[in-house]
Amino acid sequence: MTLAEVFRRHGPAYLANQVLSSAKAKVWRAIVACRTAVLGGHVETCDCCGVTRHVYHSCRNRHCPQCQTRAKEDWLAKRRQELLPVPYFHLVFTLPHALHALVGQRPRVIYEMLFGAAAATLTEFGANPRWLGGKLAFSLILHTWKQDLARHVQVHALVAGGALTPEGEWRSPKRGFLFPVRALSPVFRGKFIAALSEARGPGQRLAESLADEKLWLALRQQLYAHDWVVYAKQPLGGPEQVVEYLGRYTLRVAISNERLVAMDETTVRFRVRATPGKRVLQLPAAEFIERFLRHVLPSGFKRIRHYGLLAPAAKATKLALARQALSVPAPDAVITATVEDFLQRVGRAEWARCPHCGAGRFVPTAVMPPLHLATPPGTSVRGPP
Ligand SMILES: [Zn+2]
Ligand SMILES: [Zn+2]
Repeated sequence: MTLAEVFRRHGPAYLANQVLSSAKAKVWRAIVACRTAVLGGHVETCDCCGVTRHVYHSCRNRHCPQCQTRAKEDWLAKRRQELLPVPYFHLVFTLPHALHALVGQRPRVIYEMLFGAAAATLTEFGANPRWLGGKLAFSLILHTWKQDLARHVQVHALVAGGALTPEGEWRSPKRGFLFPVRALSPVFRGKFIAALSEARGPGQRLAESLADEKLWLALRQQLYAHDWVVYAKQPLGGPEQVVEYLGRYTLRVAISNERLVAMDETTVRFRVRATPGKRVLQLPAAEFIERFLRHVLPSGFKRIRHYGLLAPAAKATKLALARQALSVPAPDAVITATVEDFLQRVGRAEWARCPHCGAGRFVPTAVMPPLHLATPPGTSVRGPP
């Protein structure tokens, strides 16, 4: 069972009552068309027995569970070269539930603010001589879902343990942690609420959404009523664990096809990890689709961002200075083949082998052009294109 099947079966009823944003409509069309004749592909013929098969193109949309892959090896190899030989810390900044309605209305603005507040908080603590007194190297990754597809908005920070001081020295954290999370929390909250407040101003991005003074005061009170959760996860050890984390988590989709269990006329059932063991959650189909679509990112939105020494502007120079301070050589530019690489190649060889005769290999013999349908079956989406 696949998400595309859920969309095809329950999509018409869902779309009859919904107008999708253009970002969501695009994702919808991609998922439904993925690996079907709509996208075209090629015919492959066994070079031994002559049996043929049709292979269709993938949509490659980042939200498509069928295209969900590990991060590409060359992308990971680049990240690997930017890592420093120090322990890495993993911190999580969570947005309070009181902001979820606003996330639903203005996801781009709120996600940007979340990145901004978390990055500014870390930068400030790194620069504070009481802690490190220098520039950090860190990456932030946006997460928006829980296992049951409910909204849960966080940025995960992977932070190199230490900072480059203005004198060009590397200063490591004195204790076993980077910063006290209790101290980070109010600073993060303060920065976020300040940004929110500013965005209410005339002509600003949330001027309309937060126009009502009474609602705004109620929201602000709610936001100040609780501590905002910042917590430290198990440190990532060294650079290799960071690469592994990035490879595993950063290109994930809200739900994988493996987790889908069954659907009927009205419901969809899917697996959620829970304690203890596994359980299956059943939702009305419309609710399931609605939850999945909540996690579609605004068009072109970058989910992974790099800061401090890793900020794109002066990354090469700054990383070189950090390596000098740590007395380590520049990383080898040669991309070492990983076990993962090897398995991928074996997988490709396996895929090309003909199961019919067992001896031949499939080779492409004809091209199937994509179907240029204005609205491919099962993808009729109303609203802005
Ligand atoms: Zn796809
Ligand atoms: Zn064959």
